[in-house]
Amino acid sequence: MNFAETFQPPAVSPELEALRQEVRGFLGEVRKKGEFDFCNNSWAETFSPEFSRLLGARGWIGYHWPEEYGGRGGSYLATYTINEEMLAVGAPIGAHWIAARQSGPLLMKFGTEEQRQKYLPRIARGESFFAIGMSEPDSGSDLAAVRTRATLQEDGRYILKGRKIWSTGAHKCDHMIVLCRTSPLDTKHRHQGITQFVVDLTLDGISIHPIRSIDGNEHFNEVVFDDVVLEPDALVGTEGGGWNQVTSELGYERSGPERYLSVMPLIEAFAKDSGNSEEQTRTLGRLSARLLTQRAMSLGITSELVAGRSPVFEAALSKDLGTIFEQDAIEIVRAATEGTRSTELSQLLQEAICASPAFTIRGGTTQILRMMISKEVLPR
Ligand SMILES: Cc1cc2nc3c(=O)[nH]c(=O)nc-3n(C[C@H](O)[C@H](O)[C@H](O)COP(=O)(O)OP(=O)(O)OC[C@H]3O[C@@H](n4cnc5c(N)ncnc54)[C@H](O)[C@@H]3O)c2cc1C
Repeated sequence: MNFAETFQPPAVSPELEALRQEVRGFLGEVRKKGEFDFCNNSWAETFSPEFSRLLGARGWIGYHWPEEYGGRGGSYLATYTINEEMLAVGAPIGAHWIAARQSGPLLMKFGTEEQRQKYLPRIARGESFFAIGMSEPDSGSDLAAVRTRATLQEDGRYILKGRKIWSTGAHKCDHMIVLCRTSPLDTKHRHQGITQFVVDLTLDGISIHPIRSIDGNEHFNEVVFDDVVLEPDALVGTEGGGWNQVTSELGYERSGPERYLSVMPLIEAFAKDSGNSEEQTRTLGRLSARLLTQRAMSLGITSELVAGRSPVFEAALSKDLGTIFEQDAIEIVRAATEGTRSTELSQLLQEAICASPAFTIRGGTTQILRMMISKEVLPR
């Protein structure tokens, strides 16, 4: 592959720059008022329907979606720009993040017209929030091993039974895209017989148990489906075609700005705190160089996605490097500020240290990503 070509960032138009300034101005005002919490890792750890509705009212969720589905018909790069500004200051975008990044686009691509009409405008208004139901206790990296089952009944409905784990935000979301088996595992064709459903989380037979993480907060959950009745219109795409559908989400899931900007509030506070010593300036310079390289790579992949290609390997590379950068940045800031930290910086550092082990696990572990990368770049 030609790395320089793939990671070519797209040109920035004056309209895009104007949008960036508008979003930045809005965020500056909101921060000044102090009504919302801004923090590290905000796309995964916050849940503010109020903030999502504020963005929805401005058309800033699903900005590139067609107008008939609640979007503004803008470019994907515009959506990227909005997200980048939100992440850079740690805005509380967690409530709508998964629906806007992943579930909405999935429904746009594979859903029926009724499903698009039903779900997308509500997501874009910041009124409907989705969780991802992929991982199970014995099926994380190896998704083909899912055991949750949906069994087709004579009346066309399905009965859903099984258990999902690590489902971010499921205790606060209204819907989940569930990946499950609709036919038994065929060990020679493990990726067949897997299907996606859009599941209303208020249905009878669903119980959601929050799991406490190291920071004492509850962000993710165990979700149990005990003979949940799904109407035929809960099926997303093709029965048995879930594997191809789910892998098509991965380019978007892995290459976005959230894979290198999770600790930007910490880096910003470090920059403010760091004074003008030569050593600290050098440290900031090194962090900035890696950040800008990462950004160029992520934007380059975005151009590929926009062009309709499926840069799954490139996205794996970007996510691996981006999340390692995030973890390194925390350690660099910690080491550089030993004994000199302000209260704000200490607080941000504590949050970041607790959150950081997850960076290289969620959305595909380092080992799995590197396996994908090596298959692509090493001679066979
Ligand atoms: C903060 C957070 C949020 C998450 N949110 C969600 C969510 O919303 N929805 C959802 O469905 N899931 C979610 N997950 C789950 C996440 O996708 C899985 O944790 C991840 O895919 C790894 O799966 P696992 O935990 O089962 O680990 P395993 O797959 O059991 O892996 C354990 C270890 O073995 C390594 N390993 C596994 N297979 C191989 C192999 N073939 N070769 C080499 N090494 C291997 C892995 O790299 C890892 O180090 C979340 C996870 C975290 C940490």
